[in-house]
Amino acid sequence: MLEDKNPQRTTLENLGEFGLIKHLTQNFKLNHDSSVLGIGDDAAVLDFKGKKTIITTDMLVEGIHFDLSYMPLKHLGYKSVIVNLSDIYAMNANATQITVSIAVSNRFPLEALEEFYEGVAMACKMYNVDLVGGDTTSSTTGMLISITAIGIAEENEIVPRSGSKPNDLLVVSGDLGGAYLGLQVLEREKEVFKVNPNNQPDLEPYSYIVERQLKPEARKDIVALLQKLDVKPTAMIDISDGLSSEILHLCEQSSTGCNLFEDKIPLDPTVMSTSEEFKMDVTTIALSGGEDYELLFTIDQSDFPKIKGNPNLTVIGHITDKGEGAHLITRGDTKIPVSAQGWNSFNP
Ligand SMILES: [Mg+2]
Repeated sequence: MLEDKNPQRTTLENLGEFGLIKHLTQNFKLNHDSSVLGIGDDAAVLDFKGKKTIITTDMLVEGIHFDLSYMPLKHLGYKSVIVNLSDIYAMNANATQITVSIAVSNRFPLEALEEFYEGVAMACKMYNVDLVGGDTTSSTTGMLISITAIGIAEENEIVPRSGSKPNDLLVVSGDLGGAYLGLQVLEREKEVFKVNPNNQPDLEPYSYIVERQLKPEARKDIVALLQKLDVKPTAMIDISDGLSSEILHLCEQSSTGCNLFEDKIPLDPTVMSTSEEFKMDVTTIALSGGEDYELLFTIDQSDFPKIKGNPNLTVIGHITDKGEGAHLITRGDTKIPVSAQGWNSFNP
Protein backbone atom coordinates (compact mmCIF):
# COMPACT_ATOMS: atom_id res chain seq x y z
CA MET A 1 0.00 0.00 0.00
CA LEU A 2 1.06 3.54 -0.82
CA GLU A 3 4.60 2.85 -1.94
CA ASP A 4 5.77 3.39 -5.53
CA LYS A 5 5.12 0.11 -7.27
CA ASN A 6 6.72 1.27 -10.50
CA PRO A 7 10.45 1.43 -9.89
CA GLN A 8 10.95 1.18 -13.65
CA ARG A 9 9.73 4.31 -15.41
CA THR A 10 9.45 4.60 -19.17
CA THR A 11 8.15 8.01 -20.17
CA LEU A 12 5.15 8.01 -22.49
CA GLU A 13 6.69 10.47 -24.98
CA ASN A 14 9.02 7.74 -26.22
CA LEU A 15 6.12 5.75 -27.64
CA GLY A 16 3.83 8.29 -29.29
CA GLU A 17 0.05 7.96 -29.19
CA PHE A 18 -0.38 5.18 -31.74
CA GLY A 19 2.55 3.21 -30.44
CA LEU A 20 1.11 3.49 -26.95
CA ILE A 21 -2.36 2.16 -27.84
CA LYS A 22 -0.81 -0.62 -29.88
CA HIS A 23 1.51 -1.54 -27.03
CA LEU A 24 -1.20 -1.51 -24.36
CA THR A 25 -3.76 -3.48 -26.37
CA GLN A 26 -1.55 -5.94 -28.24
CA ASN A 27 -2.56 -8.95 -26.17
CA PHE A 28 -6.32 -8.42 -26.32
CA LYS A 29 -8.08 -10.97 -28.52
CA LEU A 30 -11.64 -10.84 -29.86
CA ASN A 31 -13.80 -13.70 -28.65
CA HIS A 32 -17.34 -12.74 -29.67
CA ASP A 33 -18.75 -13.40 -33.15
CA SER A 34 -20.45 -10.03 -32.81
CA SER A 35 -17.01 -8.29 -32.70
CA VAL A 36 -16.43 -8.08 -36.45
CA LEU A 37 -13.62 -5.53 -36.31
CA GLY A 38 -11.83 -4.32 -33.18
CA ILE A 39 -8.90 -2.03 -32.45
CA GLY A 40 -6.72 -0.87 -35.34
CA ASP A 41 -9.13 0.72 -37.80
CA ASP A 42 -10.95 4.08 -37.68
CA ALA A 43 -13.84 2.46 -35.83
CA ALA A 44 -15.00 -0.92 -34.58
CA VAL A 45 -17.64 -2.98 -36.39
CA LEU A 46 -20.19 -5.00 -34.39
CA ASP A 47 -22.96 -7.25 -35.69
CA PHE A 48 -25.67 -8.35 -33.26
CA LYS A 49 -27.79 -10.06 -35.91
CA GLY A 50 -31.13 -8.53 -35.03
CA LYS A 51 -30.74 -8.52 -31.24
CA LYS A 52 -31.11 -5.28 -29.28
CA THR A 53 -27.90 -3.39 -28.45
CA ILE A 54 -27.49 -2.06 -24.90
CA ILE A 55 -24.97 0.76 -24.36
CA THR A 56 -23.77 2.50 -21.21
CA THR A 57 -20.88 4.81 -20.48
CA ASP A 58 -19.21 6.09 -17.35
CA MET A 59 -16.42 8.50 -16.50
CA LEU A 60 -14.06 8.24 -13.53
CA VAL A 61 -11.90 11.13 -12.39
CA GLU A 62 -8.89 10.91 -10.06
CA GLY A 63 -9.57 12.66 -6.77
CA ILE A 64 -13.34 12.43 -7.30
CA HIS A 65 -14.00 8.75 -7.95
CA PHE A 66 -10.74 7.15 -6.95
CA ASP A 67 -7.61 7.80 -4.91
CA LEU A 68 -4.42 6.25 -6.26
CA SER A 69 -2.72 6.36 -2.88
CA TYR A 70 -4.54 3.18 -1.91
CA MET A 71 -6.09 2.05 -5.20
CA PRO A 72 -3.58 -0.08 -7.10
CA LEU A 73 -3.79 0.68 -10.84
CA LYS A 74 -4.52 -2.94 -11.69
CA HIS A 75 -7.54 -2.86 -9.38
CA LEU A 76 -8.59 0.47 -10.84
CA GLY A 77 -8.53 -0.98 -14.35
CA TYR A 78 -10.62 -3.92 -13.18
CA LYS A 79 -13.11 -1.83 -11.22
CA SER A 80 -13.53 0.72 -14.04
CA VAL A 81 -14.72 -2.08 -16.32
CA ILE A 82 -16.88 -3.70 -13.63
CA VAL A 83 -18.90 -0.57 -12.85
CA ASN A 84 -19.88 -0.36 -16.52
CA LEU A 85 -20.68 -4.05 -16.91
CA SER A 86 -22.91 -3.79 -13.85
CA ASP A 87 -25.15 -1.35 -15.73
CA ILE A 88 -25.48 -3.78 -18.66
CA TYR A 89 -26.45 -6.64 -16.32
CA ALA A 90 -28.94 -4.30 -14.62
CA MET A 91 -30.83 -4.28 -17.93
CA ASN A 92 -30.92 -8.11 -17.79
CA ALA A 93 -28.59 -8.11 -20.79
CA ASN A 94 -25.26 -9.80 -21.54
CA ALA A 95 -22.17 -7.60 -21.84
CA THR A 96 -20.10 -8.30 -24.97
CA GLN A 97 -17.73 -5.39 -25.74
CA ILE A 98 -16.08 -2.39 -24.09
CA THR A 99 -14.08 0.63 -25.20
CA VAL A 100 -11.56 2.16 -22.81
CA SER A 101 -10.25 5.73 -23.00
CA ILE A 102 -7.82 7.28 -20.56
CA ALA A 103 -6.11 10.62 -20.10
CA VAL A 104 -3.00 10.77 -17.92
CA SER A 105 -0.50 13.42 -16.90
CA ASN A 106 3.23 12.93 -17.43
CA ARG A 107 3.68 11.68 -13.85
CA PHE A 108 2.41 8.32 -15.13
CA PRO A 109 5.08 6.13 -16.70
CA LEU A 110 4.30 3.44 -19.25
CA GLU A 111 4.56 0.79 -16.53
CA ALA A 112 1.64 2.40 -14.67
CA LEU A 113 -0.59 2.21 -17.75
CA GLU A 114 0.46 -1.38 -18.34
CA GLU A 115 -0.69 -2.17 -14.82
CA PHE A 116 -4.04 -0.43 -15.45
CA TYR A 117 -4.54 -2.43 -18.67
CA GLU A 118 -3.66 -5.65 -16.83
CA GLY A 119 -6.73 -5.01 -14.69
CA VAL A 120 -8.82 -4.21 -17.78
CA ALA A 121 -7.64 -7.47 -19.37
CA MET A 122 -8.50 -9.45 -16.26
CA ALA A 123 -12.06 -8.04 -16.23
CA CYS A 124 -12.42 -8.78 -19.96
CA LYS A 125 -11.39 -12.36 -19.32
CA MET A 126 -13.52 -12.89 -16.21
CA TYR A 127 -16.64 -11.44 -17.80
CA ASN A 128 -15.96 -12.53 -21.38
CA VAL A 129 -16.07 -9.11 -23.03
CA ASP A 130 -13.98 -7.89 -25.98
CA LEU A 131 -12.00 -4.65 -25.90
CA VAL A 132 -12.83 -3.12 -29.31
CA GLY A 133 -11.64 0.47 -29.07
CA GLY A 134 -10.50 3.40 -27.02
CA ASP A 135 -8.13 6.31 -26.87
CA THR A 136 -5.25 7.58 -24.79
CA THR A 137 -4.43 11.23 -24.40
CA SER A 138 -2.60 13.53 -22.02
CA SER A 139 -4.08 15.47 -19.14
CA THR A 140 -2.54 18.37 -17.24
CA THR A 141 -3.49 16.91 -13.88
CA GLY A 142 -4.27 13.39 -12.81
CA MET A 143 -6.00 10.54 -14.52
CA LEU A 144 -9.37 10.35 -16.26
CA ILE A 145 -11.01 7.14 -17.40
CA SER A 146 -13.97 6.83 -19.74
CA ILE A 147 -15.39 3.39 -20.47
CA THR A 148 -18.28 2.40 -22.69
CA ALA A 149 -19.83 -1.03 -22.32
CA ILE A 150 -21.96 -2.68 -24.99
CA GLY A 151 -24.28 -5.61 -24.50
CA ILE A 152 -27.01 -7.60 -26.19
CA ALA A 153 -30.42 -8.93 -25.32
CA GLU A 154 -33.54 -10.19 -27.04
CA GLU A 155 -36.15 -7.45 -26.99
CA ASN A 156 -38.41 -9.37 -24.61
CA GLU A 157 -35.55 -10.03 -22.16
CA ILE A 158 -34.72 -6.39 -21.43
CA VAL A 159 -35.73 -5.23 -17.93
CA PRO A 160 -35.99 -1.44 -17.49
CA ARG A 161 -36.54 0.36 -14.17
CA SER A 162 -40.11 1.19 -15.06
CA GLY A 163 -41.95 -2.15 -14.85
CA SER A 164 -42.66 -2.72 -11.16
CA LYS A 165 -46.28 -2.81 -9.95
CA PRO A 166 -48.02 -2.88 -6.55
CA ASN A 167 -47.53 -6.16 -4.62
CA ASP A 168 -44.33 -7.06 -6.51
CA LEU A 169 -41.57 -8.20 -4.18
CA LEU A 170 -38.44 -6.08 -3.80
CA VAL A 171 -35.34 -8.29 -3.99
CA VAL A 172 -31.62 -7.57 -3.63
CA SER A 173 -28.61 -9.75 -4.46
CA GLY A 174 -25.62 -10.27 -2.15
CA ASP A 175 -25.15 -7.98 0.85
CA LEU A 176 -24.85 -4.22 1.29
CA GLY A 177 -22.63 -1.61 2.91
CA GLY A 178 -19.29 -3.41 2.50
CA ALA A 179 -17.77 -1.17 -0.17
CA TYR A 180 -18.42 2.00 1.81
CA LEU A 181 -16.93 0.59 5.01
CA GLY A 182 -13.95 -0.76 3.04
CA LEU A 183 -13.33 2.80 1.90
CA GLN A 184 -13.52 4.05 5.50
CA VAL A 185 -10.87 1.51 6.54
CA LEU A 186 -8.58 2.51 3.64
CA GLU A 187 -9.02 6.22 4.42
CA ARG A 188 -8.16 5.58 8.05
CA GLU A 189 -5.03 3.61 7.16
CA LYS A 190 -3.99 6.36 4.75
CA GLU A 191 -4.08 8.89 7.60
CA VAL A 192 -2.07 6.55 9.84
CA PHE A 193 0.46 6.08 7.03
CA LYS A 194 0.85 9.85 6.61
CA VAL A 195 1.87 10.15 10.26
CA ASN A 196 4.09 7.07 10.32
CA PRO A 197 5.12 5.62 6.92
CA ASN A 198 6.71 2.62 8.63
CA ASN A 199 3.40 1.53 10.04
CA GLN A 200 2.20 -1.33 7.82
CA PRO A 201 -1.56 -1.65 8.12
CA ASP A 202 -3.13 -4.98 9.03
CA LEU A 203 -6.09 -5.15 6.70
CA GLU A 204 -6.67 -8.87 7.21
CA PRO A 205 -9.69 -8.48 9.54
CA TYR A 206 -11.25 -6.22 6.92
CA SER A 207 -10.35 -8.24 3.82
CA TYR A 208 -13.97 -8.78 2.75
CA ILE A 209 -14.97 -5.12 2.84
CA VAL A 210 -11.64 -3.83 1.47
CA GLU A 211 -12.09 -6.20 -1.46
CA ARG A 212 -15.66 -4.96 -1.92
CA GLN A 213 -14.16 -1.47 -2.34
CA LEU A 214 -11.03 -2.25 -4.35
CA LYS A 215 -12.16 -5.22 -6.41
CA PRO A 216 -15.93 -5.28 -6.74
CA GLU A 217 -17.68 -7.79 -8.98
CA ALA A 218 -20.66 -7.21 -11.27
CA ARG A 219 -23.54 -9.67 -10.83
CA LYS A 220 -23.46 -11.41 -14.18
CA ASP A 221 -24.11 -14.57 -12.19
CA ILE A 222 -27.43 -13.22 -10.92
CA VAL A 223 -28.66 -12.52 -14.46
CA ALA A 224 -27.78 -16.12 -15.34
CA LEU A 225 -29.34 -17.44 -12.10
CA LEU A 226 -32.64 -15.65 -12.75
CA GLN A 227 -32.72 -17.09 -16.25
CA LYS A 228 -32.10 -20.55 -14.85
CA LEU A 229 -34.86 -20.10 -12.27
CA ASP A 230 -37.15 -18.84 -15.03
CA VAL A 231 -37.71 -15.54 -13.25
CA LYS A 232 -37.88 -12.34 -15.28
CA PRO A 233 -37.78 -9.31 -12.99
CA THR A 234 -40.45 -6.69 -13.57
CA ALA A 235 -37.93 -3.87 -12.99
CA MET A 236 -34.20 -3.80 -12.21
CA ILE A 237 -31.39 -1.39 -11.30
CA ASP A 238 -27.84 -1.85 -10.02
CA ILE A 239 -26.79 -0.42 -6.67
CA SER A 240 -24.04 2.06 -7.41
CA ASP A 241 -25.12 4.96 -5.19
CA GLY A 242 -26.80 3.21 -2.26
CA LEU A 243 -29.99 1.26 -1.69
CA SER A 244 -32.25 4.21 -0.87
CA SER A 245 -31.46 6.27 -3.95
CA GLU A 246 -31.79 3.20 -6.21
CA ILE A 247 -35.15 2.29 -4.65
CA LEU A 248 -36.36 5.83 -5.25
CA HIS A 249 -35.19 5.70 -8.91
CA LEU A 250 -37.01 2.42 -9.41
CA CYS A 251 -40.22 3.63 -7.74
CA GLU A 252 -40.16 6.92 -9.61
CA GLN A 253 -39.64 5.27 -13.01
CA SER A 254 -42.35 2.71 -12.23
CA SER A 255 -44.77 5.26 -10.68
CA THR A 256 -45.03 3.17 -7.53
CA GLY A 257 -44.27 3.35 -3.81
CA CYS A 258 -42.67 0.69 -1.60
CA ASN A 259 -42.24 -0.66 1.90
CA LEU A 260 -38.66 -1.64 2.73
CA PHE A 261 -37.99 -3.60 5.93
CA GLU A 262 -34.89 -2.65 7.90
CA ASP A 263 -34.50 -6.09 9.47
CA LYS A 264 -34.43 -7.75 6.03
CA ILE A 265 -31.48 -5.77 4.61
CA PRO A 266 -28.68 -8.33 4.03
CA LEU A 267 -25.47 -7.49 5.92
CA ASP A 268 -22.17 -9.35 6.16
CA PRO A 269 -20.86 -9.89 9.73
CA THR A 270 -17.76 -7.80 8.85
CA VAL A 271 -20.06 -4.94 7.88
CA MET A 272 -21.85 -5.14 11.22
CA SER A 273 -18.68 -5.31 13.32
CA THR A 274 -16.86 -2.59 11.36
CA SER A 275 -19.82 -0.21 11.47
CA GLU A 276 -19.80 -0.64 15.26
CA GLU A 277 -16.07 0.06 15.34
CA PHE A 278 -16.60 3.26 13.33
CA LYS A 279 -19.65 4.13 15.43
CA MET A 280 -21.82 4.35 12.35
CA ASP A 281 -25.39 3.19 11.92
CA VAL A 282 -25.27 0.06 9.79
CA THR A 283 -28.67 0.67 8.17
CA THR A 284 -27.63 4.17 7.13
CA ILE A 285 -24.51 2.69 5.56
CA ALA A 286 -26.49 0.07 3.64
CA LEU A 287 -28.99 2.70 2.50
CA SER A 288 -26.51 5.41 1.52
CA GLY A 289 -23.05 3.88 1.24
CA GLY A 290 -22.98 2.95 -2.42
CA GLU A 291 -20.54 1.11 -4.71
CA ASP A 292 -21.83 -2.33 -3.78
CA TYR A 293 -22.79 -3.14 -7.42
CA GLU A 294 -25.48 -5.56 -6.34
CA LEU A 295 -28.72 -5.85 -8.30
CA LEU A 296 -32.02 -4.53 -6.94
CA PHE A 297 -35.10 -5.82 -8.69
CA THR A 298 -38.79 -6.54 -8.35
CA ILE A 299 -40.58 -9.79 -9.15
CA ASP A 300 -44.18 -10.83 -9.41
CA GLN A 301 -45.37 -12.55 -6.21
CA SER A 302 -46.10 -15.72 -8.16
CA ASP A 303 -42.33 -16.07 -8.76
CA PHE A 304 -41.51 -16.07 -5.05
CA PRO A 305 -41.35 -19.90 -4.69
CA LYS A 306 -38.66 -19.97 -7.41
CA ILE A 307 -36.28 -17.68 -5.49
CA LYS A 308 -37.25 -18.67 -1.94
CA GLY A 309 -34.28 -19.82 0.13
CA ASN A 310 -31.69 -18.89 -2.49
CA PRO A 311 -28.64 -17.66 -0.55
CA ASN A 312 -27.83 -15.05 -3.23
CA LEU A 313 -31.21 -13.33 -3.07
CA THR A 314 -33.06 -11.56 -0.25
CA VAL A 315 -36.61 -10.21 -0.30
CA ILE A 316 -36.38 -6.85 1.47
CA GLY A 317 -39.83 -5.42 0.89
CA HIS A 318 -42.67 -4.95 -1.54
CA ILE A 319 -44.02 -2.43 -4.01
CA THR A 320 -47.08 -0.33 -3.15
CA ASP A 321 -49.25 2.25 -4.88
CA LYS A 322 -47.48 5.49 -5.69
CA GLY A 323 -49.77 7.39 -3.29
CA GLU A 324 -48.41 5.42 -0.33
CA GLY A 325 -44.87 6.70 -0.94
CA ALA A 326 -41.56 4.93 -0.31
CA HIS A 327 -41.00 3.92 3.32
CA LEU A 328 -38.54 2.13 5.53
CA ILE A 329 -40.15 0.03 8.26
CA THR A 330 -37.61 0.10 11.09
CA ARG A 331 -36.81 -2.70 13.56
CA GLY A 332 -38.87 -0.75 16.07
CA ASP A 333 -41.81 -0.86 13.63
CA THR A 334 -41.66 2.85 12.85
CA LYS A 335 -42.45 3.93 9.29
CA ILE A 336 -40.09 6.58 7.94
CA PRO A 337 -39.85 7.96 4.39
CA VAL A 338 -36.94 6.65 2.32
CA SER A 339 -34.82 9.60 1.29
CA ALA A 340 -31.82 9.80 -1.01
CA GLN A 341 -29.51 10.51 1.90
CA GLY A 342 -26.25 12.15 1.01
CA TRP A 343 -22.91 11.96 2.73
CA ASN A 344 -24.11 14.45 5.34
CA SER A 345 -26.22 11.77 6.95
CA PHE A 346 -23.00 10.18 8.19
CA ASN A 347 -22.09 13.31 10.15
CA PRO A 348 -25.25 14.26 12.03
MG1 LIG B 1 -26.82 1.88 -12.80
